[in-house]
Amino acid sequence: MLCLGIEGTAHTFGIGIADSKGKILANVSRVYVPEQGGIHPREAARFHAVNARRVLDEALNVAGIELEDIDLVAFSQGPGLGPVLRTAATAARALAARLGIPIVGVNHCIAHIEIGRLTGRIHDPVTLYVSGGNTQIIAFDAGRYRIFGETLDIPVGNCLDVFAREAGLSHPGGPNVERLARRGRRYIQLPYAVKGMDMSFSGLMTEAVRRYRDGAHLPDVCFSLQETAFAALVEVTERALAHTEKKEVMLTGGVASNMRLRTMLELMADEHRVKFFVPPSEFCRDCGANIAWTGLLAYLHGVRQRLDDTEVRQRWRTDEVDVPWRGK
Ligand code: AMP
Ligand code: MG
Repeated sequence: MLCLGIEGTAHTFGIGIADSKGKILANVSRVYVPEQGGIHPREAARFHAVNARRVLDEALNVAGIELEDIDLVAFSQGPGLGPVLRTAATAARALAARLGIPIVGVNHCIAHIEIGRLTGRIHDPVTLYVSGGNTQIIAFDAGRYRIFGETLDIPVGNCLDVFAREAGLSHPGGPNVERLARRGRRYIQLPYAVKGMDMSFSGLMTEAVRRYRDGAHLPDVCFSLQETAFAALVEVTERALAHTEKKEVMLTGGVASNMRLRTMLELMADEHRVKFFVPPSEFCRDCGANIAWTGLLAYLHGVRQRLDDTEVRQRWRTDEVDVPWRGK
């Protein structure tokens, strides 16, 4: 069985094609880059609509198949930006209707976890999912993916991006902050906010900007920002690991590219003698392959949707999703 998955939640419009054995036949993306400032939802949606056809043709080409060979269409139903989600959903509905094949909506966060489980030969991890739009610590428990901790305000990727913009660094900010942080020497005290199992990054971001404006050495601010934000992420992940007694830790999402975060998390995993895994960067990023594979899992385990059920869900939480493919 071949599934075509469409990703469209934020910057990335992607189409992936997967078969039921877990082989990824194609994974093609285009990424919207705002001219200035942050992401503009309607502009991003327009970018996705304009590029959809080209991405589709390229994906079919890479996979070496015809559109008619597709048996199932999956799409990112949420969470994400409304106009962007609706564009991907419209494309998915049109394809499913034209080909007369079933459609399944996929939760974007869960798709990140499932592609990691596929590519890593890991089975049951505590996942730290960190991106421009999400920050969650997730583990499977009692039939669902449960959120053990999450940000109470902005995602950590957004914290890095906004700080970078305020400090005159180019977008995306994360890689630039990482580059400068390597030259940082002095730790500047910044607000560390872990509240129960949840985290907050907006106060940290504001204070980092203030310190920079007050004349602190930029590499030191970048270094301190990373150390503070990542320590909070590792602390909550560690507590989730201790609580669930899982034997694997996975790091994914765009911020997973960060070598300092990887090192910190790996150190923690080593101390607990558990496996540490980061999926190949192609799959850490938003992409269609994640959606295609998760859509297949859902469909093969009995998930069915009528067109009426395909309305997008901007705030669809990870723990609201039935995951029959993982059993009870
Ligand atoms: P995503 O939302 O998954 O597409 O990932 C994009 C986010 O990842 C943006 O916030 C980027 O700044 C962030 N990011 C990418 N590379 C790095 C890096 N090396 N260090 C920190 N953040 C990064
Ligand atoms: Mg993502």
